[in-house]
Amino acid sequence: MQLVKQIHPQLTFLLKYRMAINVFWPKFRTDEVLSQIRECLENGWTGLGFKTLEFEAKWKEYTGLQNAHFLSSNTAGLHLAFNIFKSQYKWNDGDEVITTPITFVSTNQAILYENLKAVFADVDESSCLDPASVESLITKRTRAVIFVGIGGNTGQLDKIIDLCKTYNLKLILDAAHMAGTKFNGKHIGHDVDAVVFSFQSVKNLPTADGGMICFKEGKHDALVRKLSWLGISKDTYTRLNNNRNYDWRYDVEEIGYKYHGNSIMAAIALVQLNYLDEDNDQRKRICAQYDRNLNHSNKIRFVKPVAFCDSSRHLYQVCVNNRADVMAHLQKNEIYPGVHYTDNTQYKIFAYAKDTCPNAKAISESVLSLPLHLNLVHQDIEKVSQTLLQAVDIFS
Ligand SMILES: *Cc1c(COP(=O)(O)O)cnc(C)c1O
Repeated sequence: MQLVKQIHPQLTFLLKYRMAINVFWPKFRTDEVLSQIRECLENGWTGLGFKTLEFEAKWKEYTGLQNAHFLSSNTAGLHLAFNIFKSQYKWNDGDEVITTPITFVSTNQAILYENLKAVFADVDESSCLDPASVESLITKRTRAVIFVGIGGNTGQLDKIIDLCKTYNLKLILDAAHMAGTKFNGKHIGHDVDAVVFSFQSVKNLPTADGGMICFKEGKHDALVRKLSWLGISKDTYTRLNNNRNYDWRYDVEEIGYKYHGNSIMAAIALVQLNYLDEDNDQRKRICAQYDRNLNHSNKIRFVKPVAFCDSSRHLYQVCVNNRADVMAHLQKNEIYPGVHYTDNTQYKIFAYAKDTCPNAKAISESVLSLPLHLNLVHQDIEKVSQTLLQAVDIFS
């Protein structure tokens, strides 16, 4: 311990942190991951290409989606989706995108990156967009809807898909929580114009950072490959592969970004993908244990996956009264839940929409994400359940 402290003071923090029951804790198959990374290092290829192409192929095979481009993050993917649709469909600055207030803020930042207006619709009891609220906000300037599958749940996505068809709107799915979510037996993402996944360090398929954008149309996939590497027409890996000699020539046809993923992250992802279904099954078992322990309580409202949704179970969420007191009680017992999310209309940058979504506000003030990760053991879940039941008895 003393030695560790001298080498790396952050490690002592981490060791203490790991004694508690936290909302997230990613699990890596360390030896397998290291051997994948070793291949990159020994071949001297850590950047774009090589493992990123292999992971894209495996992701398409796993999801059945037609296109997949590996990126440095989900946020980068959301930005590129708006960027591409805006240029391809000739949207104007100030055109409207209907979005949800219950999300990580990058969903809504991405709208602003392209000078579009974020119009906030309310959510239903699944914490996902409510189709009726979305429909009531459609105007002549509405161009797209972005849907977030909170906790892996599809909510009323099927109805939103129909709405977007009826009103000729583009539909983007922020599937940061949805790696492995199936609906009616099929992986999600097939019926939307673009779906964006996250492989950030606490998501269901954790790397350190990474994302995947899957466009419905091949021409958008071709464009995103270019735009994620500064608009350069051919990447180095292709130039090496397709020519006997290294072809140094390339053109730059438009403004692009440095958003592509790299082979080290893809190497981690390749291993993690092999375990995604197994890991999600374990998440389901943990959720079932929480259900058995908590279902009888009339002081807890559950945020549950809808029928026909085989959720990735990224989150196990409950709503309680007097959340601050309930949280304090849990924390006193070394249990650290999460809050997903603050109603985004409460943030300064979205002040123009403050308090326009009552359901979102109510959820934002009462929701808790209970610890849900692959290092939890039976007794941990029992402890969290009993402590929560105590807390709601006292405070709710
Ligand atoms: C994590 C998350 C993001 C951002 O993902 P990154 O890969 O970290 O950019 C976006 N939306 C939601 C709902 C998320 O949970």
